[in-house]
Amino acid sequence: MSLLDVLQKKKDEPAEDVAQNDPIQAAPKDGQMHIGEAAKDEGKVVIMSEAEDANKKPAEPAEIPYATTFDEDSIPKILNEIFLEAIKQHASDVHFKPTEDKFMVYLRIDGTMIEHKAFEKIFHNPLIARIKILSSLRIDEHRLPQDGKSAFDAGDGKEVDLRVSVLPTQFGEKVVIRLLEKNPKMVELRDLGMLPNILMKVERHLTATYGMVLAVGPTGSGKSTSLFSMISTFDPSAYNISTLEDPIEYKITGVTQTQINTEIDFDFPDGLRTLVRQDPDIIMVGEIRDQKTASLTIESALTGHLVFSTLHTNSAVGTIQRLLNMDIDRFLITAAVKLIISQRLVRKVCSSCRESYPVPEKYYDLFGEDSEVHPKEAFFYKAKGCDQCKNTGYKGRIGLFEVLEMSPAIEELVINNAPHNEIEDQAVKEGMILLRKDALYKAMTGDITIEEAIRAMA
Ligand SMILES: [Zn+2]
Repeated sequence: MSLLDVLQKKKDEPAEDVAQNDPIQAAPKDGQMHIGEAAKDEGKVVIMSEAEDANKKPAEPAEIPYATTFDEDSIPKILNEIFLEAIKQHASDVHFKPTEDKFMVYLRIDGTMIEHKAFEKIFHNPLIARIKILSSLRIDEHRLPQDGKSAFDAGDGKEVDLRVSVLPTQFGEKVVIRLLEKNPKMVELRDLGMLPNILMKVERHLTATYGMVLAVGPTGSGKSTSLFSMISTFDPSAYNISTLEDPIEYKITGVTQTQINTEIDFDFPDGLRTLVRQDPDIIMVGEIRDQKTASLTIESALTGHLVFSTLHTNSAVGTIQRLLNMDIDRFLITAAVKLIISQRLVRKVCSSCRESYPVPEKYYDLFGEDSEVHPKEAFFYKAKGCDQCKNTGYKGRIGLFEVLEMSPAIEELVINNAPHNEIEDQAVKEGMILLRKDALYKAMTGDITIEEAIRAMA
């Protein structure tokens, strides 16, 4: 379908859906864009993404509406619409990127960059200047990077903080804006994507009165989301719950949250020393980054507090080694650590347009010899794209989990300095599902694609 067909089709749709009032999308049949006229129009503007609107793949820039007629007055409105659309699509970042002959806007949605709009180069400087004004940056500075902040009111009481970063490039200034929802919706523990028996295991540990629960994984694996969904299962009026965070991501009613600030020498160890004097029941330490934090966190977990934290490690068993490398005594580790949740965050395949296909032979090895399912009888899923997923084939995200419980047998192995694989084998014997098995399972049940699973495991 060509752009012209799409626009022609729109003309036949009800008034609200007609894009004529949209300064960027409005394109009369002659291909000319009259941005100024449209922008001044008092009519109702319907914000739609190109993908949803034109039923085309975002990866085909040729079909992206291309604004050609420039009008300075339309700039605030254009920017407004970009933000509204970004928020509507739950984008985490908006990229304003100049190229040699264009000015591109991308949205990062579910971790993936999606082309959103293409402008003529003439829009570049006015749009960047507008962003700079909104975030109190110097508009006459074009050679140095700048950082700023702003906020955007999306209506319906929804406010979004904007973190603005300006970088000079060979084609002029590039701006990336991180969107931080002021009160993001908490994900419920049962909605993270844990298999039922894993979820039960985790819930059982949340009834403990002391010990340590760790969420581990690389950056962007959803560790804090997991911690918060676990913490929010506690009644804040019945427990003293305190957190140390950098930065504070979610605000939870009734929970005492403290922002770490290394610029004024207020770090995790400082915060932790104070917190334990505040008579806490439950403590959350945003991240264990160093020996001091590790040792104080372990100590808190051994002195009658339920402690939650995160570590940057790749596997559940690998976390034990990481703590040993931080000079934590192996007896203290086995006594304090109760549960390690290793995780990844992956894109879900769109359930509206997914289709199953037999497992290709090149993936047979993934199943392993002990697999209960023969790859010949199994199916994977792929999605070709539809309106629901804005033609990306993906919609939403889901966690992959590997959950290790500190059992007497594992304690003994750790104390006797057993190698990684021995501890892992024992954990699997006791019911731990390896991350790659969870990924394979989710690929077979149609939650994710095998490509996404492999990408996450890499
Ligand atoms: Zn779809």
